[in-house]
Amino acid sequence: MQIDIITIFPDFFRGPLDYGIIRRAREAGLVKIEIRDLRAFTRDRHRTVDDRPFGGGEGMVLKPEPLFECVEALNLAPREERVAAKQSVILLSAQGRRFDQRLASELAELDRLVLICGRYEGVDERVGTHLADREISIGDYVLSGGELGATVIVDTVTRLIPGAVGNEASTRQESFFAGPELGGDDVSDRSVRPCDKLRAGSTRADSTCASGGLLDYPHYTRPADFRGMKVPEVLVNGNHEEIRRWRRRSALEKTLRNRPDLLDQAQLSKEDKKLVAEIEASSR
Ligand code: SAM
Repeated sequence: MQIDIITIFPDFFRGPLDYGIIRRAREAGLVKIEIRDLRAFTRDRHRTVDDRPFGGGEGMVLKPEPLFECVEALNLAPREERVAAKQSVILLSAQGRRFDQRLASELAELDRLVLICGRYEGVDERVGTHLADREISIGDYVLSGGELGATVIVDTVTRLIPGAVGNEASTRQESFFAGPELGGDDVSDRSVRPCDKLRAGSTRADSTCASGGLLDYPHYTRPADFRGMKVPEVLVNGNHEEIRRWRRRSALEKTLRNRPDLLDQAQLSKEDKKLVAEIEASSR
């Protein structure tokens, strides 16, 4: 995959893209990230990228000309052929579709992403309507610029590229994951839980698939007793089935507590539904 980030602050990306999984994925050639300085596509002496808004009002607006010229210089497929070419030009915008794990998975399937970072009051609307293929927001709040949003998208998408994370199965067992492997028509009627299917043949209890659209289960490491705060006994007793059940119950508890909205879409087995009922009964 190649990702181009268009910004007026190219130095912003020194650092965030140079560590951990992203750095390794870049070094391994799994993802190529190019930072494009928008000012290089201006034609005046002052390298002007913004102007006052028509109709009056607060702030400045990013001009269309440099943004169009910059994207055109990237040799992408014509706009109407971009889906087939597995390319997408994305405008970071508080008014866009909200970014989530599902959208990240969709983007991870593509070969080319272009991320346009807005600044000031925003970007001339013609960029959204005639240049970009979609607008994406990283959440219901207003950032000063699209750079942080672009970084969030690059990070989330890169770790989904096959080979980027050492243990690929782990990205499928994290919070929110609800990919096709775990999907299905009526999970509640299956005798084999989706997570069991995913880990078919494994007797390890290192993960019990807290995902299926739920939040992840709690993780602990050594020491078993830290300042009197003890690791749950079940995790050190070596009984894999008990560990699996505890993790699943904890994931359900946490989801009920922090993100009950996720349960509507989550893939719940019969056992899950029983656990939810138990949790709800015990909290009454
Ligand atoms: N006037 C805009 C509005 O009310 O929606 C906010 C402009 S904001 C100060 C400047 C730039 O930051 C935007 O053009 C966009 O690129 C970026 N931005 C702000 N909030 C964002 C969000 N939630 N997600 C993604 N990008 C965002």
